[in-house]
Amino acid sequence: MEKKGLPTTVVDLIPHDSSFQREVNELSGENVGLCFHCRTCAGGCPYIGAMDYPPHGVLRLAQFGLRKEALECSTIWICVACNTCSIQCPMAIDIAAIMDALRHMAVAEGAKVAEPGILEFHREVLHSIERYGRTHKLEIMLRYKLRTGQWFQDMDIGLKMLAKRKLDLMPSRVKGIAEMGDIFHPPEKGV
Ligand code: SF4
Ligand code: SF4
Repeated sequence: MEKKGLPTTVVDLIPHDSSFQREVNELSGENVGLCFHCRTCAGGCPYIGAMDYPPHGVLRLAQFGLRKEALECSTIWICVACNTCSIQCPMAIDIAAIMDALRHMAVAEGAKVAEPGILEFHREVLHSIERYGRTHKLEIMLRYKLRTGQWFQDMDIGLKMLAKRKLDLMPSRVKGIAEMGDIFHPPEKGV
């Protein structure tokens, strides 16, 4: 008979949050527990060199209930949701959806964001879409630089894009711009 209070697995020896995996599964619509760490996802990820954990490593953190480590890792922000890993996973786990869920949880819970510049960039892209229904790249770049103070970073690329007329000076709105408001601020049900 199992003695109460004694750890049954090595995971029980690590301070962990037993509800974390369930929360990640609910938000992502995936089952983190299916991952058996074959590392196929890590082999195909084009950005693995910039990540602190490989993609399956983040799933491992979720399996172990290591909430802080998962929500504060750089991998969830470096991931660009290219879906290369999701397509190759033998268990058909949508890893990109799990990364997305973890980003949402990190922001909602006020976790320390490992790549704050990337979060600011996400915010500026969304701001542009909400305002125009499409991205206005020049405004995104300028607002991003205003927020981060990194005025001279990638300046050469920006100038080249301007010279090749890849950056529109003035923004243009899509026809159904009024509907964008409903997407960003959905009316409450029953109202
Ligand atoms: S490819 Fe799928 S099963 Fe394999 S390690 Fe990655 S997430 Fe886990
Ligand atoms: S979706 Fe994210 S984790 Fe998966 S291969 Fe692309 S960048 Fe890497």
